[in-house]
Amino acid sequence: MSTISTNTGAVDELASEPQLTAADRCDSCGAQAYIRVTVNNGELLFCAHHGKKHQEKLSAIAHSWHDETARLFEEQRA
Ligand SMILES: [Zn+2]
Repeated sequence: MSTISTNTGAVDELASEPQLTAADRCDSCGAQAYIRVTVNNGELLFCAHHGKKHQEKLSAIAHSWHDETARLFEEQRA
């Protein structure tokens, strides 16, 4: 059985880009991902730390850079 989502016909009307969820994990460390980078051969997910760490290199090849790290600061603000 394949669990790969093709995303065909599943465009969310409420958001032009899908929101990252707690199920999305950083490719580097496994923490919750807040940054999604689209590149030629797929997507990369990063936590805030690794997103910033790799941003300089990846920005050269990224097709899109989806950054939800602002949510982190909102959630942390008391
Ligand atoms: Zn990470």
